[in-house]
Amino acid sequence: MSDKPPLRILLCAPRGFCAGVVRAIDVVEAALVRFGPPVYVRHEIVHNRYVVDALKRKGAVFIEELDEAPDGDRPVVFSAHGVAKSVPAAAKARNLIAIDATCPLVTKVHREAEIHHKRGRLVLLIGHAGHPEVIGTMGQLPEGAVLLVETVADVAALALPADAAELAYVTQTTLSIDDTADVVAALKARFPLIHGPHKEDICYATTNRQEAVKRVAPECDGLVVVGAPNSSNSQRLREVAERAGCRVARLVQRATDIDWDEFSGLATLGVTAGASAPEILVEEIIDAFAERYAVTVETVSTADESVFFPLPRELRAPAAE
Ligand code: SF4
Repeated sequence: MSDKPPLRILLCAPRGFCAGVVRAIDVVEAALVRFGPPVYVRHEIVHNRYVVDALKRKGAVFIEELDEAPDGDRPVVFSAHGVAKSVPAAAKARNLIAIDATCPLVTKVHREAEIHHKRGRLVLLIGHAGHPEVIGTMGQLPEGAVLLVETVADVAALALPADAAELAYVTQTTLSIDDTADVVAALKARFPLIHGPHKEDICYATTNRQEAVKRVAPECDGLVVVGAPNSSNSQRLREVAERAGCRVARLVQRATDIDWDEFSGLATLGVTAGASAPEILVEEIIDAFAERYAVTVETVSTADESVFFPLPRELRAPAAE
């Protein structure tokens, strides 16, 4: 008989890598094969240190700005979060080989914003200031053509007349579903003529991971989100668990981040992972709990995912063309 206390682990599904993250990592790996190292990657390709370190060991060089890459014909990969239009233009001007790993679901938002702008509409972007995706989306249009709104209070504070006809909104892909619904409702109440996406811009992966946490959280006294502090979708998962009443909901990158005093005396623990966290780190976390508890693991599945994005054309094998 084990003298460890019992712990029921409810493992959320879907969790972890989304199709955009898988593609972004594949892009860097394919570029390393095609061009050989070094391959420059602007910004963390995805927000996960484990993934970034693994790619560094293979020859990827991570930079924050293009001017950190030397002039010449080396490849530069743009991260899954997307970049402002000025970035590929600057790469072209310096004869760098630009490879775009922007998630197609982020590119879709870029195109929506462009279409609204072409139709003469002021674009309101719902998102978090400073996030790379927000910087990239705002950078699709000239300065002043996009206004950022983060909260319902921001909507109330917009210096626009209520009858402003030519308005539209788009959103960051990794937001809280519930908070965004509140901001959209506030926009529609204040600007009844505002144009918006037919279906929201929050992506399938963000939606599915939040729904899975909503399902398990009411049964759990604790929940661990495996993910990085700068990962928007991971932070949102932690908030969803907290709002659902989990006594302790924490974002951890590795098992060594767990504060075992906080996670003592648990009966049921929820486990999930943000869209940029690899499954090996989920296993590491479960193993760490198994050292202290007699764990049983149940998977709670709320959706099936089969989304796949092919590599950019320039990296596809000739046979796949
Ligand atoms: S979280 Fe969504 S938008 Fe972001 S990379 Fe994944 S699928 Fe694309």
